[in-house]
Amino acid sequence: MFWNHDIECMPKEELKRLQYSSIKNLVTKLYSSNAFYRHKMDSFDVEPDDIRSLSDVSKLPFMTKQEFRDNYPTKMFSVPNTDVVRYHVSSGTTGKPTLVGYTRNDLDYWTEALARSLSSIGVGEDDTLQVSYGYGLFTGGLGLHYGAERVGATVLPASTGSTERQLELMQDLDVTVIACTPSYFIHMIDVAKDIGIDFLRDTKLRKAVLGAEPWSEGMRKRIEEYSGVRAYDIYGTSELAGPMFTECEERNGIHICGDIAYMEAIDPQSGEVLEPGEKGELVVTMLKKEAFPLVRYRIRDLSAVCDDVCPCGRSSPRISRISGRSDDMLIVRGINVFPSQIEYALMQVPQVGNQYMIQVTREGALDNMVVQVEIKPESFSDKVEDMILLRSHIESELKKYLNLGVHVELKAPGELPRFDGKASRVKDKRSL
Ligand SMILES: [Zn+2]
Repeated sequence: MFWNHDIECMPKEELKRLQYSSIKNLVTKLYSSNAFYRHKMDSFDVEPDDIRSLSDVSKLPFMTKQEFRDNYPTKMFSVPNTDVVRYHVSSGTTGKPTLVGYTRNDLDYWTEALARSLSSIGVGEDDTLQVSYGYGLFTGGLGLHYGAERVGATVLPASTGSTERQLELMQDLDVTVIACTPSYFIHMIDVAKDIGIDFLRDTKLRKAVLGAEPWSEGMRKRIEEYSGVRAYDIYGTSELAGPMFTECEERNGIHICGDIAYMEAIDPQSGEVLEPGEKGELVVTMLKKEAFPLVRYRIRDLSAVCDDVCPCGRSSPRISRISGRSDDMLIVRGINVFPSQIEYALMQVPQVGNQYMIQVTREGALDNMVVQVEIKPESFSDKVEDMILLRSHIESELKKYLNLGVHVELKAPGELPRFDGKASRVKDKRSL
């Protein structure tokens, strides 16, 4: 289903022309009206006249999260406060949080992007969508809420927590689609199993729109096997506006609406723009934002930008599955490890349940990584020998994928923490 066929399927060359003129206008406007951008462009010796083609965008300096913190709360805003109609705040794990402001048009384009995304996976007026993202300062709840209303779906603003009640409402109200973090959906699957609910038999739930944290293809397979529900990946960060872009029915990358955002992948070390299909760090320029413009913002998420034609007919480029954030990368005994690689390896072992935790400590000069893994109830045994065999099997699987020796601790079903929002599965205790 297309929400805005003419724009979504615009010929690629025409889309590139549109992107170029949008960026040129944006930079020209910011240079003349926003002290932060003018100063920044001057210090990199670049001015709007230097941008003569789309590839000239690479002449513009990057923006970083640190700049948002340094200019907290509203020094980077580009409109008077009277035009700002909403704030969202992302929780910073370190330092000040990031404040994002929205004009009416900003909210409208955010909702438009979500309307296109939800339509592309077949969500429309026949659907009831349970929004189990947090409502509030976090962008997930309100973002999906307005996107789903715009396509005419019936919205159940469930927010997070009270999982049994959520499952009861899901049954009573014939919910067909859920939007939440993959961690929360997994928790929901476990709770449903405990109280005897089978999604396919006892509910109308058929689709899950999952995001706000990196998750692997292994986890998708697992979720679909356990629930019978088709799972789609959704992408966005609060700086962009919030969750905005999803896969289409082809599920071969997330479509980035080309008239709304321009996405590049760069080499994280050199900053050079990579070729289509090469994996690096994502850099985004938002083409329509008013209150809080973004020009070449380094998102830190690792992915590739693919520009071939998608069989669905949409011309907008796609990004491949996010394999992690460059700041989530753990360096353990000199080897780069992403939590998503660990998840992928664990999901290959049928006896492993859906919950795991990663701990890194330092003993003397040596890093030590321990992966705690919950075992499925049917695979858990009192026989010590069986458990020792299983543990070494998991350790060798991890070694195969990570090239690194890791200790595994087996946990009984239900022993590890559950997450109703974003999961926090990594504890790096080396800097403590
Ligand atoms: Zn597509």
